[in-house]
Amino acid sequence: MDLGLQGRRAIVCAASKGLGKACALSLAREGVDLVINSRSQDVLEATADEIRSETGVTVTPVAADITTEAGRQAVLAACGDPDILINNAGGPPPGDFRDWDRDDWIKAVDANMLTAIFMIKATVDSMIDRKFGRVVNITSAAVKAPIEILGLSNGARAGLTGFCAGLSRKTVAHNVTINGLLPGPFATDRYFANIRFQAEKSGKPYEEVLAAREAANPAGRAGDPAEFGDACAFLCSARAGFITGQNLLMDGGSYPGTL
Ligand code: NAP
Repeated sequence: MDLGLQGRRAIVCAASKGLGKACALSLAREGVDLVINSRSQDVLEATADEIRSETGVTVTPVAADITTEAGRQAVLAACGDPDILINNAGGPPPGDFRDWDRDDWIKAVDANMLTAIFMIKATVDSMIDRKFGRVVNITSAAVKAPIEILGLSNGARAGLTGFCAGLSRKTVAHNVTINGLLPGPFATDRYFANIRFQAEKSGKPYEEVLAAREAANPAGRAGDPAEFGDACAFLCSARAGFITGQNLLMDGGSYPGTL
């Protein structure tokens, strides 16, 4: 299938590694020129080189903290009017809500709700004018089934999802769609750091905790970030103009509900 994306321009936030990088690479393989972002310049430059040399598209790296106004302005200035916006940022830390004060909540809401909303605000009207736009928010399986120790993530991401549920019904008549992609366990640095943390906490060997985690998933494994990237590219495609306001869970079947 030709996804119809050749020559489009995308901003992919938080994309030097992991799921953001996978989305950037899948879009680049479809001929999309990119602005990619993360805080660490060296890793970001290496990722930009890797994507350029594999795909030949233009890749502009912008090292900045996307959760800050200055960071968002730098990313937006590098792209002009994007056709595609992939919102992503690091996830908030785990913990007990009794330990979180106002600052902890503001940080989580800034990173995992307001940053995406401000990026959409800055780009959606020009997408509407040009009659093409695709926004994908990388959120979490926690939007569908909250994870007890990730209350900051459950709350902030649910806020973003609720906001986009409303807006996405307004933009679709202009061929501008807004959807969520909800990762379950994907084999990224964050995932392996989490396994290491659990192994240290439980005193069990890393390999044992990893094997148990994978065996507990109906697919018997963690997701491959490339699978996530390709789903993202499809949602961004010219073929997906009738899909909006949806939240696609990618978790190997872990969520036990019928719908
Ligand atoms: P990852 O492998 O740790 O990669 C995170 C990427 O985001 C890196 O490129 C990182 O680069 C960048 N980043 C983090 N904070 C940033 C900021 N403030 N500004 C700009 N860039 C930033 O993580 P991942 O697994 O891909 O996770 C991506 C998102 O999916 C996170 O929100 C995570 O909570 C969520 N998620 C992941 C999984 C999973 O299993 N992987 C499951 C559920 C939800 P720098 O550190 O250099 O900035």
